[in-house]
Amino acid sequence: MTEFEDAKQNLEDALDKIEKAEYLERLKNPESYLETSFSVQMDSGERKSFMGYRSLHSSARGPGKGGIRFSPEVNEDEVKALSLWMSLKCAVVDIPYGGGKGGVSVDPSGLSKSELERLSRRYVDSVFKVIGPDTDIPAPDMNTGEQEMAWMMDQYSQLEGSKTPESFTGKPVEAGGSKGRGDSTGFGAAYIIEKIIQETNQEPEDMTAAVQGFGNAASPAVKKLDEIGVNVIAVSDSSGATYNMNGLGYKELIKCNRERGEVCPVGEEISNEELLELDVDFLVPAAIEGVITEENADDVSADYIVEIANGPTTRKADKILKENGVKMIPDILANAAGVTVSYYEWVQNRTGEYLDRDEVLDRLQNKMINAYKEFRETRDEEDVYGRQAAYMMAAERIVNSMQAEKP
Ligand code: GLU
Repeated sequence: MTEFEDAKQNLEDALDKIEKAEYLERLKNPESYLETSFSVQMDSGERKSFMGYRSLHSSARGPGKGGIRFSPEVNEDEVKALSLWMSLKCAVVDIPYGGGKGGVSVDPSGLSKSELERLSRRYVDSVFKVIGPDTDIPAPDMNTGEQEMAWMMDQYSQLEGSKTPESFTGKPVEAGGSKGRGDSTGFGAAYIIEKIIQETNQEPEDMTAAVQGFGNAASPAVKKLDEIGVNVIAVSDSSGATYNMNGLGYKELIKCNRERGEVCPVGEEISNEELLELDVDFLVPAAIEGVITEENADDVSADYIVEIANGPTTRKADKILKENGVKMIPDILANAAGVTVSYYEWVQNRTGEYLDRDEVLDRLQNKMINAYKEFRETRDEEDVYGRQAAYMMAAERIVNSMQAEKP
């Protein structure tokens, strides 16, 4: 996974820069890692076996935190890489967690609902001894959502012998989830964009954005940007992109998207590659990793890249973008709002005091803006590229907590 190699290199640079290179060896590898093989009964009665994974990268700043993905690509390397990413992400927004990540190597698209439920529950059985509200708290990730979290939390509670909603986050509200969690990732990125517009004394109505993606994270980002007044001139899905230089309008997009199940050609049809090259103020890659590479970085005309996807830009591309003056709001900051609201969910589960949606989103907005301001200060004071600034902030915090531990 080149993204992991890139993340390790970026971490190495950041540790060098903050003069803490001796921590690299420790932070390159997870603190603990579990690989399991378990079987699930299919609807046909046949038993099928699956590989399950959970990696706890660091617990220096608190229990591990991070999603569980169901995907055929899930493997040891990927899970370990993504858990490092989570440690950095939680540190950038300064929430009291380390990083974790897990998954099952499976193509969930071919499974029935009851098969998915059994798979989710059997996964929990197999990793039960390494997860928990004070050790490592999973959440949704690729191809998992509220429903899987509800099943998993229920399974955990049965094994524990008591209702333990704080063992998983990203649950449905009826099962102890937090209001606002669903919109949080996209909204968080939009709050940062709004702040940048204010800081540069510009009007949102004069600003344009192109969003690659229109899924769970991208669609709320488009909604919030539209509300703020930013002209979203292109969105896409895997089948292609739609573009209108005067703005697309969220309401029309979502209505048509719900009816057709894919991004609708409400504007001119363009390709995903062309979307990345549009001359916009904000380019928001919010779909998959590795889309901005050394091959196309020179063609990026945006002023800012705001990364909602994990790892959409390669390290080689960063170098070109930096030279070309494209500012970077990296994934570990721009998409950290999801895990931030997961943290609020965990706190609500533990205290038993539940917040309304506006309270959650107000807190989130403050948190994201504060993290962005600290990031901006680091970037400008140290005169480094955006990604490096975020890595430096995260590395500093993680190392400080490690120094407080028993040597
Ligand atoms: N999977 C999400 C992420 O990569 C959320 C993790 C969480 O809420 O713990 O940030």
